[in-house]
Amino acid sequence: MVCHKCGEPAIGICRFCGRAVCKEHHVTTLPTILAMYLGDQQTPKAIVVSNVLWCGECQPQPEPVEVPEFY
Ligand SMILES: [Zn+2]
Ligand SMILES: [Zn+2]
Repeated sequence: MVCHKCGEPAIGICRFCGRAVCKEHHVTTLPTILAMYLGDQQTPKAIVVSNVLWCGECQPQPEPVEVPEFY
């Protein structure tokens, strides 16, 4: 597994798009929602993780995107 930018050995995979990135090219500043669930009193809650591995190139959307053409 090598970095998609420079070909050096990769340290991980982008959480969002699956590109492999090395220690020089990864970005770890994006908070991301890992899971949503209903807590007490049916209150929606989200498990959010900050500093996930991000390649810095793809652009994950903060909200789910509507895709009405799939219906
Ligand atoms: Zn690299
Ligand atoms: Zn990515």
